Amino acid sequence: MLAAVAAAVALHQWPYASMDEAAKAALTEAAACSAGVRECGVAIYEWLEPGSSRRWYFYSAIETSNKPFGVEITALGLPPPTHMRLVADAHIHVCLPQNRPYAPFFSVGDVLVNQAMHTVGYMADLCSMNIHRYDPAQDDADDEEIDFSSGRKLYLTIGHVVGWLGLRRISK
Ligand SMILES: [Zn+2]
Repeated sequence: MLAAVAAAVALHQWPYASMDEAAKAALTEAAACSAGVRECGVAIYEWLEPGSSRRWYFYSAIETSNKPFGVEITALGLPPPTHMRLVADAHIHVCLPQNRPYAPFFSVGDVLVNQAMHTVGYMADLCSMNIHRYDPAQDDADDEEIDFSSGRKLYLTIGHVVGWLGLRRISK
């Protein structure tokens, strides 16, 4: 018989009082993980304090797929930690010459994840160091028209800028 080992989400220990604060802390850590060359990301959870209406926010251990574009956040596919609810994800967009014009935009793949999971997406663009928030319940996914030099048009969104990483720019 095979021993079934249930994969569990590794949580960063510190709780945050708001989702935005958890995202900023997570993205600061994810920016260091990225070293400007690979995407890194996390899942963000909400914990409702028992016997209270107080909500706290935690994030999962930083993950990377070691690729400049795209990160598979395995925590998103795992059951949330006990008494927690998955509410958001956060990831880095690196700033390389080939993606610089698109770094501030949530990709089609990014918004599909948030639409499907009914979660908020946070993304830090390492070209500007801005933190962007996309909430499928409130924001359009296609409010900006992007013109590729090929003439092909794409509609994407930057969501809303909700903060800034406050680090020196990390780019190659
Ligand atoms: Zn992205």
